This record gives sequence, C-alpha cells and structure tokens, in this order.
Amino acid sequence: MSVTPTAAPVTNTSGTPTIPPGSPLLLLGARSDAATERGVVCPGDLPAADDPELAARARRARAALGSDVVILGHHYQRDQVIEFADSRGDSFALSQFAADADAPYIIFCGVHFMAESAAILGRDDQRVILPDLAAGCSMADMAEISQLRDAWARLERAGVAEHTSPLTYMNSTAAIKAFCGERGGAICTSSNAPRAMEWGFEQVEGSRLPGKVLFLPDQHLGRNTAVLGLGLDLEDCVVYDPWQPDGGLTDQQLRDARVILWKGHCSVHARFMPAMVDEIRRERPAVEVMVHPECRYEVVSKADRVGSTSQLITWVEQAEPGATIAVATELNLVKRLADEHPDKDIVFLDDTVCFCATMNRIDLPHLTWVLEALVEGEVVNEVTVGDDVRHYSRLALDRMLALPGDARSLART
Ligand code: SF4
Repeated sequence: MSVTPTAAPVTNTSGTPTIPPGSPLLLLGARSDAATERGVVCPGDLPAADDPELAARARRARAALGSDVVILGHHYQRDQVIEFADSRGDSFALSQFAADADAPYIIFCGVHFMAESAAILGRDDQRVILPDLAAGCSMADMAEISQLRDAWARLERAGVAEHTSPLTYMNSTAAIKAFCGERGGAICTSSNAPRAMEWGFEQVEGSRLPGKVLFLPDQHLGRNTAVLGLGLDLEDCVVYDPWQPDGGLTDQQLRDARVILWKGHCSVHARFMPAMVDEIRRERPAVEVMVHPECRYEVVSKADRVGSTSQLITWVEQAEPGATIAVATELNLVKRLADEHPDKDIVFLDDTVCFCATMNRIDLPHLTWVLEALVEGEVVNEVTVGDDVRHYSRLALDRMLALPGDARSLART
C-alpha cells in the first residue's frame, strides 16, 4: 500500500490548525484538528469508504496475516468492524484477551484507553494498533493527569489527601491509572466497583478524619456505587470540578465527604433521563428496564436491573422469549441485541440518544488500512505506554484483580 506524507494542517491567522467551514469533521481522520480529541492525523491514504471491494480487501489482508494478528472488538463497534473481531468484549474482557493473546500484533477496535490497557497487559514484544488514533473516549478525556495532580495538591492543602484512596474506573488514561497505583489506589470496572470502593475505604480505615475515596473519572458510576452499592447517603458525596478554582469545594466540604467524585461523565450514557424510564413504562407496562451504571443516579434508581455491558448482554440472552426489554446503553450494541434475539422485544430506552461518536471513528476504511499496512510490514497507529506508567498502572490493576469476587448488584431486582 502506498503511504503519502501527511498533509499540512489548515491553519487560522494565529497559526492554530483548524477545519474549514463545511468540511466533514475528521470523518476519516484525514487531517489534524488541534481542538478535537487528540488532534491526530492519519499518516497515509485511507481506502475510500464507498469502495465496494473494501470488505474483500480487509478479508484478504486478514487472511494473509494469519496468526500474526489478533483483532479485538468492543461491543459498541459498528457491525462492519465487529465482524472481523477474533474476540468481542467490554473494556475489561478485551484487556484480558489482550493479556492472553499470542500474536505479535494486536489490532484494537475500541478506544484509546482500551488500547493503552492492552499495551500495559501485553508482552514487551507485542505491538498494539488502534486503527484511528482519534478514537478517544470523551469520559477518559475529562480527567487529564495535570488536573489530577492539581486535585491531589488541593486535597493535601485541605489536609485530607492522607485519608483518601484514589480509585479510577477502567475508562481512564494510563497516566491516571498509574497515578492511582503510585498512591496506593486501584482500578475498578463497572461490575466490581462496589467491592473496589469498599476496598478503598479499608485502606484508609482508622484515619483521624472519615476515610475517603477519590473516584474518577465518572461521577455517575461513583455516585451509583456509593449510594446504591454501599448504602451511603447522597450527601456523603461531593463533586470535584477540575475547571473550578479549588475544585469548587471548601476545605470543610472535603473534610466531611466520604466520596469525592470527579466531574466527568460518559457522553452517551449521561443522555438517558428518568422521564424516559417513566415514558417506556407507560407505553409498555410489562417492560423490564436494564441500564448501564454510567447512567445518572436518577435513571439507575428507576431501573429494574443495572449492569456492565457484559451483564446487560447476558441478561438479554437469558430473558424468556416474548420478554419486552428496554436497554440504556450504546446504540450499536442494542441494535445488535435486537437483531440477534428476534423472539424478544428489545428496544432502545430512547431514540434521541446516539452512537458513541468516538468509538465509531473505527470504521472499515481504517481497519482495512492498518491490515494492509501490516501486510506490507508497516506498523501504523501504534499505541505505547512509558515504563513508569506501565509499572504503576499495572500495580493498580493487580490490586483490582486481587479483590475477592462480589456479585453485589446496584439493581433493584
Ligand atoms: S460509550 Fe462513553 S465511556 Fe464508552 S467509549 Fe464512548 S464515551 Fe467513553
């Protein structure tokens, strides 16, 4: 495959790269946009999206690479990509697949923090490729490492840092994970968050002040875990806003809090509203409402079941034929579940909520491009993690893996 030099970015009068009005917004990641996501470019010629030969080209390249490559696909990927996945899963399952993979190349069809996790858990000689480096996660991007360092300094000034365990959701950058690992903290997933938060409190038991957990980056998962999982009060939680002076909190608020929630959210799951649950129950009285714990507390409180992506899939699979189920998670997955279970009435909780835009940056042209480049012996869009970050984020991950299993659910039933 021919590789051409990267096109110079279009700049404004101050020299800042910009996108001309009316241009498609990096649909194929073909230019740079400093104001968008990671401002990255695709350093080559992407196949045209309307090339009727695209799927055949991808299949040919995939076959030529054989066991040298393993392709991992997140459940939220579009169908044209997921059909090439050797293994499907949520972010945690995929990181475990990556750890077990034998192939020298891992093509990760997910988002950037997931590819970083694969690079952390993979062997030193394995190389991880993200077909479009602009496939970030808006939630992960809401907590930058410099902001977390400032926040920790704020906790130190308020005299609470030594009474606080930092706990980060899997959906965070490797730098954030490493920060937590270096300070005795851990990582959690949406399925083990209650046990991990409890563990966080145990680490600061006996403190002069109430022991605390700093939970980032998703305030909704943190609040749902604290209140619905561990039985704390809503008033025990405060929200630290990295864009406000002092995080928008007084010293006294920080001292009184049990859980300090980072002001971040998932741009997909936070769009579901409690009125949508009321509406679907009016329309379909027999409906069972299943939601992801990244949804707002007010939505989760009204749901019948709350679970991780994998749990939602299992519950749908186990439901009786004829069941009516409304699911609040990413649209690609809900559509796929509906297609795969025609004997059940599976609906999206609300049709104004759309796909995960960043996840959807991985498309067939990008996948074909990285596969064909590998056939030519070229590794493009590699994701790497520095040694220190790798060491400490692995420490945080190992602490999570050492937690005993916990089947506790945030759901009402
Ligand atoms: S669905 Fe939400 S948390 Fe998941 S990758 Fe997209 S923005 Fe991030």
